[in-house]
Amino acid sequence: MAVDNGRIVEAASSHLLERKYSARRQISASGEIVLPGLVDPHTHLVFYGSREEEFRLRQEGASYLDILKKDGGIMETVSRTRESSQAELLSIAQHRLNIAMESGTTTLEIKSGYGLRLYDELKILRTIRTLQRRNPCRIATTFLGAHAIPPYMNQDEYARIVIEEMLPTVRQRNLADFCDVFCETGVFDPETSSKILRAAGRMSLRTKIHADQFTNSGGAKVANDVRAVSADHVVHSSISEMERMNKTEVTPVILPASSQSLLGRQYAPAKEFLSMGLPVALGSDFSPSNWAIGLLTVAAIAARELRMKAEEIIRGITINAARAIGMDHRIGSLSPGKSADVVVLRAPSYKWIGYTYGEGMVDKVLIAGKETVREGKLVN
Ligand SMILES: [Zn+2]
Repeated sequence: MAVDNGRIVEAASSHLLERKYSARRQISASGEIVLPGLVDPHTHLVFYGSREEEFRLRQEGASYLDILKKDGGIMETVSRTRESSQAELLSIAQHRLNIAMESGTTTLEIKSGYGLRLYDELKILRTIRTLQRRNPCRIATTFLGAHAIPPYMNQDEYARIVIEEMLPTVRQRNLADFCDVFCETGVFDPETSSKILRAAGRMSLRTKIHADQFTNSGGAKVANDVRAVSADHVVHSSISEMERMNKTEVTPVILPASSQSLLGRQYAPAKEFLSMGLPVALGSDFSPSNWAIGLLTVAAIAARELRMKAEEIIRGITINAARAIGMDHRIGSLSPGKSADVVVLRAPSYKWIGYTYGEGMVDKVLIAGKETVREGKLVN
């Protein structure tokens, strides 16, 4: 691959490139595979604490929504995140981000959503913007004020705060690129989700939606109706709405690690979506209820639980993931003109993506042509 000024000039055989160009510096990937930098289109990277106790409850049979109703789950993370300072959140999130980059991720989306009130949502969004400034990787920032309904409030009261107070402030301070809503039975219904996303659209934020993770609750339909950039989870979405995404150009984002962490054995029918011609993207959904950061681990789960083939997975964690965050014109493939975001993996063939869990596989990572990871470790 020939790179100049952070961009890809040409990808071809070494033999041909060496004849055509003279390089100031060469990086060898001999015996390895070269892929576009990995793109994670769905993470909740910024929060305080962890919830391993809740995982134990799930192992004993409790469901995510059961735990949520008892003020456990997300509410526990919300309290701890509210109690923490921006500096604390930043240092925790930076550590997690380092792991992501050492796992081959060069671009990721990060959502707010553990504040559930203006002050703390802004604190989380500012933390994400600071990560963006301080790190070589690209970050898309999503405002997910409508992640859950805070205690002692009903859906309409809280939605009004999201629409009338939070969204205008987030927009005015330019703290987000996207707005997302958790549309689900018992959380935000389709009408309210659509109201929030349409309000965001009017403020020129692009939209995303947590759709049909636990039940067929109309999330995919909202995604199509509001022309969201992506519909995420889509485990229980109706097939006709999924088919409609070919027209509306909503990108489905599948999060198999999340399904696995919930121990529910319910996965989005990825192969069916692929056979409809949909550009299926894969993400980690890293969160306190799903502690998975690396996309090569997600690839292994997708290969086993969804039976996705290596080439389908690779598209899912590169170009389709880039499309799910509206960046496919800049990143996601090794095409001339795109940013030279590259991951070099110690593997004899691309078929190792999904075949292994990815341990020790990342050798080098380049972001905009700059070596960010060498021998699996971040370069200072
Ligand atoms: Zn999520």
